[in-house]
Amino acid sequence: MLTTLTIETRAREELLDITAQVREAVARSGVRDGFAIVASAHTTAGVTINENADPDVARDILHWLRTRIPQSGEFAHGEGNSDAHLKTSLVGGSVVVIIDRARLVLGTWQGIFLAEFDGPRSRSVLVKVVVGAG
Ligand code: ZN
Repeated sequence: MLTTLTIETRAREELLDITAQVREAVARSGVRDGFAIVASAHTTAGVTINENADPDVARDILHWLRTRIPQSGEFAHGEGNSDAHLKTSLVGGSVVVIIDRARLVLGTWQGIFLAEFDGPRSRSVLVKVVVGAG
């Protein structure tokens, strides 16, 4: 089963917690044991898992990337968003999450984030639920 989540981002750079939407997609699939592959359909927005308890962690990640990869760096790509392409590759485009007994298996402090680097805009995140071997 494939679900496309439409996520509206609100800033040029943002880590948006999409754990609840992914949980919903998994619940709708009815799959009890397997995997959810969560993938960005974009080249300037990725998907990552990190802490969603303290919002300072997401802020620190964005700050660290922004200070090392400034938007105004010397890049060849003419669109003016090379920094966003680089950050997306560093963060990664997809994650795999285990589904056990119909629930996403995440650590206590873990959340799934859409990592926006060239917003704000409308983004598509694909959630593919795969039935496992039990
Ligand atoms: Zn570009």
